[in-house]
Amino acid sequence: MRICVLSRNPRLYSTYRLVEAADKRGHEIEVLDTLRCTMNVVTHKPTIRYGGEELSRYDAVIPRIGASITFYGMAVLRQFEMMGVFTMNESAAIGRARDKLRCLQMLARDGIGLPITGFAHAPDDIPDVVKMVGGPPLVIKLLEGTQGIGVVLAETQTAAESMLEAFLSLDQNIMVQEYIHEAGGADIRCFVIDGEVVAAMKRQAKEGEFRANLHRGGQATAIDITDEERHTAIAAAKALGLHVAGVDMMRSSRGPLVLEVNASPGLEGIEHASGVDIASKMIAFLERHMGTDAARKRSEG
Ligand code: ADP
Repeated sequence: MRICVLSRNPRLYSTYRLVEAADKRGHEIEVLDTLRCTMNVVTHKPTIRYGGEELSRYDAVIPRIGASITFYGMAVLRQFEMMGVFTMNESAAIGRARDKLRCLQMLARDGIGLPITGFAHAPDDIPDVVKMVGGPPLVIKLLEGTQGIGVVLAETQTAAESMLEAFLSLDQNIMVQEYIHEAGGADIRCFVIDGEVVAAMKRQAKEGEFRANLHRGGQATAIDITDEERHTAIAAAKALGLHVAGVDMMRSSRGPLVLEVNASPGLEGIEHASGVDIASKMIAFLERHMGTDAARKRSEG
């Protein structure tokens, strides 16, 4: 297979692990800097240029598109899709996951457990959303935040109202969520590939912090997940149409509650914590897909 990874930096752990795994399995693989791909949107013959030359054909593309370049990254990925190249996650599915609120709305529709979440625009409606999520303590999240940045805990009614007023006056899109205190500052990341949880880790927030993100000092360890957690993770990836996803959830007294679904989940923390070679499993997924796709084309043609 000829594979390309769309990534800003070949030295990132996830990127070089994918290159290593594809190499080992006998594939040709290249890393392309997403922001250096230019597109020619021509009727019937969309092309992508890189370094002044037209890209030759790849069989598959692995998008590793950071949140800060979502708009351009999605456009490049769509161009690959229009050229008939298989993408590990489709641009539309990545777009759904990138917007936290849209993501939760789709999960809610599919009956997946979520923390009670409110969304409001007008400052006058603040008291009502605070009441809706059960009052303080509550969590306020910027819709575009990642890695725990823009996630704050408001412990009292006054703190909640003043923080919400501040965010809204800055024209920030925010959501308000009930605080899941039974989770004890821990969350679970399940790595889903092709409808299966291939690895899971628990992240525990450091002392005095409620956010378990590894970037915020959280510690990752291996964890055995329950069947309910497994089914929830698989259902969440499916609801968004993601072949590969990192599903974050918390353990609560009413079962697993999904916090978010990540369309470009990092490999470093979870490969180390679980000991699973996830990169090879991602490449194996492409092999399976290309195999069945080739078989389908043979039978059609
Ligand atoms: P991000 O996308 O920035 O990681 P998350 O919604 O995943 O944002 O929140 C970051 C962390 O904050 C989570 O991993 C979890 O540890 C903690 N957290 C988020 N929402 C809640 C909540 N409703 N109750 C308790 N802790 C939460």
